[in-house]
Amino acid sequence: MSAAVAAARAGCRTLMIERYGFMGGMGTAAGVTNFCGLHANVFGSHQRVVAGVGGELVDRIGALGGLATPHILFGGKIAAQAYDTAAYKLAADTLVVDSGAQILFHAYAVGVQMDDEARIRALFVETKSGRHAVLGRIFIDASGDGDLAAAAGAPFEKGDGDGGMLYPSTMFRVNGVDAARAGDAWNHFGAWMEKAEAEGHRFARKTPIIRPQKNPAEWRANVTQLSNADGSAIDGTDAWQLSAGELQGRRQIADFYQFLRAYAPGFEQSYLLEIAPQVGIRETRRVVGEYQLTEDDVLGCVDFADTIGVNGWPIEAHVAGNVVFKFADVPNVRGYNQLPLRMILPQRVDNLLVAGRCASMTHMGQSAARVTGACFVMGEAAGTAAAQALRHGQRVRDVDVALLQATLQANGAFLGLPGDEGQPIG
Ligand SMILES: Cc1cc2nc3c(=O)[nH]c(=O)nc-3n(C[C@H](O)[C@H](O)[C@H](O)COP(=O)(O)OP(=O)(O)OC[C@H]3O[C@@H](n4cnc5c(N)ncnc54)[C@H](O)[C@@H]3O)c2cc1C
Repeated sequence: MSAAVAAARAGCRTLMIERYGFMGGMGTAAGVTNFCGLHANVFGSHQRVVAGVGGELVDRIGALGGLATPHILFGGKIAAQAYDTAAYKLAADTLVVDSGAQILFHAYAVGVQMDDEARIRALFVETKSGRHAVLGRIFIDASGDGDLAAAAGAPFEKGDGDGGMLYPSTMFRVNGVDAARAGDAWNHFGAWMEKAEAEGHRFARKTPIIRPQKNPAEWRANVTQLSNADGSAIDGTDAWQLSAGELQGRRQIADFYQFLRAYAPGFEQSYLLEIAPQVGIRETRRVVGEYQLTEDDVLGCVDFADTIGVNGWPIEAHVAGNVVFKFADVPNVRGYNQLPLRMILPQRVDNLLVAGRCASMTHMGQSAARVTGACFVMGEAAGTAAAQALRHGQRVRDVDVALLQATLQANGAFLGLPGDEGQPIG
């Protein structure tokens, strides 16, 4: 979405291809309903550090009444911000249409034709009106799974070296919560789950994340964990595992909802508002680019000469049965790392950029920079770099970094360069 907007605004003839009938990816289709990574803890001050196209989308969601005020987590370490999916879908439509990009919904990208091993000629899409070949001079893979990059032969990795990926979750929301009685329930679910376990309940994972949306009667629940019979994470690029994961996720939700009504004050009269349309996939293919963002980069709040924006979210590893968070030493440090252009430049293929959770990161680096804020940043940079490469007749990996950074800044992006200031959230 942000790649398409950036490229179209820069004057490129741009086609945004999406398998569903709406945009937002995991943010809408998997019911995430909460922005992470828009903010950073900058020496104790919570600031919005994602501007540009991502910032515009957030503002448009706000104008539609679909945005909660940011909430502070982990005893003051970081902020996040809940939103409504309906407002997100509307805001995304207008943002992309206004940019001049064309949209092809209900089109599943299934393969490529190459000119040679370094150049994609066409992307094949399956649609209700048949199979089509989309010709392009530059392609941007923001499929989350690196579908296009993999088909084009770009190298990629999966998981932690032994194949273990971050575990997926199916998200759900309940409505009809008595907010006054629920109070700060998010601080107590862990203890209530321990009590319930002692009384025979079984949970797929510890560290539940259950929080109110803008409407205080509506709460989202990020509590499930989807695994295969051998305990490994469901692989979001395997149709059989995805199918089993859908069933497993909904079964876990049915069980968890029984627990909520029985153990959580204020949830007795609640009802299941929505189970996300699809399982939430955190990690599959990570395309190997010219640089892989690492855990040390995130925890060390590292700078890169080719910065395209920043990530303020910590390491968030969804491991078997639990979620492990690791923070930089906030509030004693700047609280964000820069994101290098090289992480969106895949090896081997010259007319391809890759943005989002399938960009070039190590397994642990991805556990942080896969969140929405960083995905917006990568997308805008990819669209802008594509336009620059076309204008100058260059390969995407040869674009002039200083010119790209100047363009991004002129368009309102936050690059984390000296003099750049985030927007304090009060
Ligand atoms: C359960 C869960 C909870 C999360 N919680 C949070 C949170 O609280 N806050 C936060 O900021 N982040 C959260 N995340 C992470 C974040 O939502 C994702 O990492 C992020 O959305 C990834 O964005 P993306 O654009 O790279 O990929 P995706 O969101 O996966 O988007 C990819 C898009 O490409 C489309 N697509 C994929 N393949 C094809 C194809 N072959 N042809 C056509 N279209 C295709 C998809 O339909 C989708 O629209 C969570 C993730 C999960 C799974």
